[in-house]
Amino acid sequence: MVAIREVGPRDGFQNEPEVISTDDKVRLVEMLARTGLTRLEVTSFVRPDVIPQLADGAEVLRRADIPESVAVTVLIPNERGLDNALALRDRFSEVNLFLSASETHNRRNVNRSIAESLDGLERVVARALAEGLRCEGVISTSFGCPYEGQVPEDRVFGIARRLAEAGCEEIAFGDTTGMANPRQVSAFFARALSKLDVKLTAHFHNTRGQGLANAAAALDAGVRSFESSFGELGGCPVPPGATGNVATEDLVSMLHEMGEDTGVELDRLVAAAAEAQRMLGRPLGSHVLIAGPVDWEPGP
Ligand code: ZN
Repeated sequence: MVAIREVGPRDGFQNEPEVISTDDKVRLVEMLARTGLTRLEVTSFVRPDVIPQLADGAEVLRRADIPESVAVTVLIPNERGLDNALALRDRFSEVNLFLSASETHNRRNVNRSIAESLDGLERVVARALAEGLRCEGVISTSFGCPYEGQVPEDRVFGIARRLAEAGCEEIAFGDTTGMANPRQVSAFFARALSKLDVKLTAHFHNTRGQGLANAAAALDAGVRSFESSFGELGGCPVPPGATGNVATEDLVSMLHEMGEDTGVELDRLVAAAAEAQRMLGRPLGSHVLIAGPVDWEPGP
């Protein structure tokens, strides 16, 4: 079984230039929650002046009708974000916390050093755990940084260990600006799986078209958990142009063709992506959305 956390309503919506209405967001979240996906990142509690696209996050979280079988995640940048999220404590069960493995990217993204971010996130994790929430740490630019180039693996693993020791049950490694290649991913996760005693998740962006190849490499290395975004929505606020998560429907389609079980009903997922495309009024980057799922029994 391969687990997928859908992050489109957060990673996707926050980076699309159009304003998506709250009603439309709620409708898409409700569609996604009925695809068989068991984990859904619904929004983030970032400052609305920083990410105006998610200013209605609390309302989406409050209104969306999500079956109990789906674990609802919210992204939390800091303690103030946690305070705001806790006003809706009964609406979610998991928090994602993030920082970058690159000093420059972290400063540009959250205006803190890595050390400052880690200190702050440790406090957030402690409080979230006390509230009975499950915590995941997301490490951006784990495979390379547009400002600093190579990111030392030992630094990434060191950050992962700090987050795990603080109480994160899961660490996601983000290729935030699409710089990873499959051989690098393969070697990275082989070492990560042997060195880190925590659940590992891969989060790839398709900025340079290598997202699915990287996902296949991570799968072969032993990774069984991914984050992706329906319709290939999303990107990263810094630097501009770092667009596109791996499309969840492309990932699910590939996994199913490879004989992996995801629990996702691909037709329903494609319908959600098609609806997002209709709302945005322009073609999205997803491939399965254009071609449709393969409808024959896949071979080996
Ligand atoms: Zn992302």
